[in-house]
Amino acid sequence: MSTKDYLEKDYYAVLGVPKSATGEDIKKAYRKLARKYHPDANQGDVKTEEKFKEVSEAYDVLSDTKRRKEYDEARTLFGSGVGGFPGAGGQRGGFNFDLGDLFGGAGQQQHGAGERLGDLFGGLFNRGGGSATRTTQRPRRGQDIESEVTLSFGEAVDGTTVSLRLTSSSACTACGGTGAKAGTTPRVCPTCDGTGAASRNLGNFAFSEPCRDCRGRGLLVDDPCPVCEGSGRGKSTRTIQARIPAGVGDSQRIRLKGKGAPGENGGPAGDLYVQVHVKPHPVFGRNAENLTVSVPVTFPEAALGAEIQVPTLHGMPVKLRIPEGTPNGRTFRVRGRGAARKDGTKGDLLVTVQVTVPQTLDDKARAALEEFRDATEGTDLRDELIKQARSE
Ligand SMILES: [Zn+2]
Ligand SMILES: [Zn+2]
Repeated sequence: MSTKDYLEKDYYAVLGVPKSATGEDIKKAYRKLARKYHPDANQGDVKTEEKFKEVSEAYDVLSDTKRRKEYDEARTLFGSGVGGFPGAGGQRGGFNFDLGDLFGGAGQQQHGAGERLGDLFGGLFNRGGGSATRTTQRPRRGQDIESEVTLSFGEAVDGTTVSLRLTSSSACTACGGTGAKAGTTPRVCPTCDGTGAASRNLGNFAFSEPCRDCRGRGLLVDDPCPVCEGSGRGKSTRTIQARIPAGVGDSQRIRLKGKGAPGENGGPAGDLYVQVHVKPHPVFGRNAENLTVSVPVTFPEAALGAEIQVPTLHGMPVKLRIPEGTPNGRTFRVRGRGAARKDGTKGDLLVTVQVTVPQTLDDKARAALEEFRDATEGTDLRDELIKQARSE
């Protein structure tokens, strides 16, 4: 009988007895099945012959106290050890070593196979060594929750606290999460012995999957709670205050650690992920930690230089000096008037000037412009361009 057999085959299930069955129970169950599947009684039917072999094998192991103990240990340790391995679900291919070797010395050594395997798993998976962790109430991390929030432009720049209504599955309030009708208690699942995990072999590597009888809970409920129909889970809605840090951008996803669904049996809470939407601002734009703004200037302001007022997101406008001969579209930097950076400092306000042509002119302004035209008559701005165009 190989270790692989031990992990692969559920001898208790084959005989139809609980894990707690006495030697007498096992014998009785075996006799009944042996009669039913005995080849003599079935005229060489291959299926029942197979069944008979299975039953005999199961009885061979379970009727021998020492072998039964080894079998129980192997399955318990394997189930609980691998169940907690984070890669057990995702990286099955990488979990590949010869379990036969691990159990090879069983019985000949002072320490049973169980303890050696326990040590190995302890080292491999950082579970702190030791042997069987037979916990019926394993700590479970709460679920992560997704939520979204729409912020005003200013809230995103400055950070804010928002109220989020969260719906999550949490322990059923009627039964306190046990799934058992009030006044009754669940019992330990005999199939997995409360570990919630069953091991299965696939090719030459084995992995752990949730126990089918208790669906991974490790507990069975005889009298289900009518409110949650035995699942132990209920939907709960709660409102939390979440701090959105300063400087978040549109379509950013932020993680609030520990603000997800509460854990079970002392496990940590899950995380809350908030998808952020930011409403555009009529005046300001954003470029990472810098705010942007476009301001109109007159032709004389650009040509002669001027001190102009520039709006800021917070409070009063600031003065900006634009020099003589400022071209259209030039961008100036006003330091420290932008959005918050992660380190607490602030970005800048980037001011782009737009030279604006007056749409209406009164007589005085028209006369002044005509005078300016006459004063600059000798120069044609297109001269250079036309020359260049010809020479090519
Ligand atoms: Zn189970
Ligand atoms: Zn319930």
